[in-house]
Amino acid sequence: MSSVAPPASDPAIVDVVGHEAARLEDFLDRDVLAELLKSVHKLFGIGVRVYSAEGALVGAEASDLPLCAFVNELPGGRQACGATVSAARSVDPGATGDVVHACFTGLAYRIVSIDHEGRRVGRIVLGPYVPSGLTEPSPELARTEPRLDGKRALELLGREPRVKTEALSRIAAHVKTTLELVVFSSHKAYVTSKLHLHSVRESYRELEDKTRRLELALTRLRDLDRLKSNFLATVSHELRTPLTSIIGYSEMLGEGLAGPLSDEQADFVRTIHAKSGQLLALISGLLDLTKMESGTMTLRQGTVRVAPVLADVITTLAPVARKKGVELTLTHDDLACDLTGDVERLRQVFTNLVDNAVKFTPAGGKVVVTGRVLQEETREEDGPAVLLAPLAKSVEVRVADSGIGIAPRERERVFDAFYQVDSSSTREYGGTGLGLSIVKRIVEAHGGTVRIESNEPNGSVFVVTLPSAHVRLPRSVPPPSSST
Ligand code: ADP
Repeated sequence: MSSVAPPASDPAIVDVVGHEAARLEDFLDRDVLAELLKSVHKLFGIGVRVYSAEGALVGAEASDLPLCAFVNELPGGRQACGATVSAARSVDPGATGDVVHACFTGLAYRIVSIDHEGRRVGRIVLGPYVPSGLTEPSPELARTEPRLDGKRALELLGREPRVKTEALSRIAAHVKTTLELVVFSSHKAYVTSKLHLHSVRESYRELEDKTRRLELALTRLRDLDRLKSNFLATVSHELRTPLTSIIGYSEMLGEGLAGPLSDEQADFVRTIHAKSGQLLALISGLLDLTKMESGTMTLRQGTVRVAPVLADVITTLAPVARKKGVELTLTHDDLACDLTGDVERLRQVFTNLVDNAVKFTPAGGKVVVTGRVLQEETREEDGPAVLLAPLAKSVEVRVADSGIGIAPRERERVFDAFYQVDSSSTREYGGTGLGLSIVKRIVEAHGGTVRIESNEPNGSVFVVTLPSAHVRLPRSVPPPSSST
């Protein structure tokens, strides 16, 4: 018979499931054993008990013989009976693994070993039974309990069924074989479950180990990220000052303040000015991002009227749109709703959205900016009548273009820093992929939301919703939470 062998190199397994350590009472399937003993008792009419090698009773199915019950009625008989039973329990079945243990009454027990993989793991005690040659109780019975009625004992003995030695040998061999099979399969299941448990524990330990290492790596990455942000902030800041000078001087050159320029020179200066402008936008974006990440992008709380902010943005970007051949219009109702917010940051939001809309719309296209006030009833849970419910106002600004549009699956991702739907767009349209991530963070810091819808028949609509006054702004745009 084979069994699952524990890896010898692992003392923990050998200790838990090793052959020496496993005791019969630890692994024997009790339900199967009970069924087996019940059927043996029913079939052969003989009591059967199973003990482990350590002497623990693991299972039993027996009923008292009338002679035994009679003997147990008197104290001497009871005492002798108890001594016989406990002796039978610890009798060593010897090298053959099969012995007969005699009772003082003349009855007998057959004791057979249970072996498993060369190891004696327990014993089966069959009996008591009446050996076929026994015609009268043993004289020892009268010696043990002189008050016992000998005639009655003889009469009871005559009524007991007798068992022939050969028949009992066959029964014993049958019970032993069957039980050893149960032991084998129980032990196998036990070893398998222990191994499984061990491997689960081992996987758990490995997982804990990996988690610890990941945590360390995460901490290190966070430190590096902080370093990177500090570095970016410093470099951007240092670059901005000379760049502002380059822009200023190229502007003055272009205006002819340093003397007249040839057409070609003017063209070069315009390129210097335009490229410097792009570079400044990139640097400003990086600075904003690092500020937001470190939680130092402050918000100046004030009361904001959206209509003038939108008008301002349109005025600023109208020349760009005109140059590109894109029609840019603004429509809104009276927008009679004050917002609590940082006017400069909100201007940055709408500038960014309109700038993108113009950028991603081809010549002949349209960009329409609309603003309106939304009024929503707020219903308090279990609150009073709807008529008494307060009205919450918010401002909705829609920037709709007839440009290239954004596929639905990209609409969440375009708000990630540095993400561009098509990275070649950097070359075609310019830009860094930073604008929308900044827009989203500023809008959310104002308690608002920004989402993208499709425009018909083509293009996209950016919808910004900002709650009306009475919102308490945070001091700065919150940095991303450490869990994300
Ligand atoms: P940038 O415009 O500098 O690349 P943004 O963060 O503003 O960065 O935009 C990220 C990306 O989202 C853009 O590169 C572009 O792919 C897409 N996008 C933004 N606005 C629009 C728009 N109005 N129409 C089509 N695509 C847009």
